[in-house]
Amino acid sequence: MSIVPQLNARRIGIVGGGQLALMMGEAAGALGLETLVLATTDDDPAVASCDYVLVGEPRDANALDELARSVDVVTFDHELVDLEQIATLERRGFTVRPSSSALHFSVDKAYQRRRFFEAGLPVPRFVVVTSSSDPTLAAFLDELDAEPVLKASRGGYDGRGVLFPQTREETLTMIDQLASLGEVLIEERLELQSEVAQLLARGVDGSVALYPLVTTTQANGMCVEVIYPAQVTADIARRGEELAEQVASLVDAVSIVAIEYFVTAKGLLVNEIALRPHNSGHWTIEGTSTSQFTNHLLAVSGQSLGTVAPLFAHAVMVNVVGSEQPGSLERARAVRDVAVHDYGKSWRPNRKLGHVTSVGDDPTTAHVRAWQGARAYGTSTEEA
Ligand code: ADP
Repeated sequence: MSIVPQLNARRIGIVGGGQLALMMGEAAGALGLETLVLATTDDDPAVASCDYVLVGEPRDANALDELARSVDVVTFDHELVDLEQIATLERRGFTVRPSSSALHFSVDKAYQRRRFFEAGLPVPRFVVVTSSSDPTLAAFLDELDAEPVLKASRGGYDGRGVLFPQTREETLTMIDQLASLGEVLIEERLELQSEVAQLLARGVDGSVALYPLVTTTQANGMCVEVIYPAQVTADIARRGEELAEQVASLVDAVSIVAIEYFVTAKGLLVNEIALRPHNSGHWTIEGTSTSQFTNHLLAVSGQSLGTVAPLFAHAVMVNVVGSEQPGSLERARAVRDVAVHDYGKSWRPNRKLGHVTSVGDDPTTAHVRAWQGARAYGTSTEEA
């Protein structure tokens, strides 16, 4: 009898216990992987699907240490982490995917924007400042046709940390508010024709599996609906793939890489990236041969990636964002040809509580059913 060396990671540690970790946990079983989640409380969504739970904060060095010691590889449900702590884990020999140097891009919007600009990627015009009296600010603002968009460099998500001032006075006040948290990314306010997202999985050997481009619609900074295929020309779809490959190799991430683009009269601009499964890829659970969750786990555990062929001509995913009153999960599930994903969170207005996907051959039917399901469930969002 010979002993077979174990090359791939079998135990995956996930920092953060939200819905992305929940869906990673759901995908892990079929791959024979075990998951240990570092959750803030024992009723975080991922507790329902992960094999083991460690309760602790994502920025608690002792909790991270315990997680890392218990698994073969550490990965992430969100980017609200301390990069220095993650780098310390790596220096101590733990495997972290994506690495701390890749995570720097997704944790820090100012760093990300500067690096993308230096690499020649198309990005909105921007400056980074630390206060409203920064000497570069006045000239930048004077060049713009409208007041800019202000983004906290770190800590924002789902539109939190993104401000749209209306007057110059408001711009300056809001910059100083955001600057109390760190650097502020200031960018031109664009006329958006639409927003699209490109996902890919990138393996330890640098191999890439590209998902098809999707259209995303947002309200109040939060994603409302995702439509496959993206409603753009073939040229834009090709450009999305080309830019995504450039981004992935620049960032050098081993993970899902999600790239959010703005579609403008000047073509595609890179808005921002995430290095984990992403809301724009939830449709891949039903819609493609390998979901984003499975491919993220395959990538971080060092295995070859799964193919990402779409299984249907059309898919629509609608987020369920809590309205004042809960709807009915049963009624949502009774809608024909929908997959209802409930994150098991307590109901709260404006909270992302689940999503509904409908796939099929006809775009209108997929759209109507996904929205019927989401409305029955109690979403507060409106169809665009
Ligand atoms: P978050 O990281 O919170 O998702 P984003 O940078 O993606 O923040 O911004 C949230 C939303 O705000 C975008 O999806 C887009 O609809 C809008 N937005 C962001 N930046 C701009 C901009 N420069 N011009 C116009 N709209 C913008």
